[in-house]
Amino acid sequence: MGITEKQIKDYTGYTMYERGRSYFRQKLVHEYREEETSPGHWTLEAEVEGSSDYDVKLEVSEDWIRGDCTCPYAYICKHMAAVLITFMESHKEPPKPTSSYEIKSLIDRYRSNVPMEETEEQPAETALVVP
Ligand SMILES: [Zn+2]
Repeated sequence: MGITEKQIKDYTGYTMYERGRSYFRQKLVHEYREEETSPGHWTLEAEVEGSSDYDVKLEVSEDWIRGDCTCPYAYICKHMAAVLITFMESHKEPPKPTSSYEIKSLIDRYRSNVPMEETEEQPAETALVVP
């Protein structure tokens, strides 16, 4: 659960998203805190380092985003984008098992079906050739 990149871009616009991404990469988001105030609804707070330190506060749900930053920019800024990206990255779902893992389990299953006599008499490589 969390928010998607598209949701952030829709809110910040492409340019601010990209600038926020670069702030995130340079680890300029400090003192990041988040609280799930109700299911699917979070409050985010952070200090973002720029030409000065700015305080960012955001409210996020899966349907909307709203927030505020102390920088002089009057619109949605890169600081807010950087905090939203921090939130998104910390809520990414763990990666699914890779296909090589699936292949390995297939080989294991095949191995366990090979009769004992055969595996004892032949080199492992020959015995394990999958038809
Ligand atoms: Zn700002």
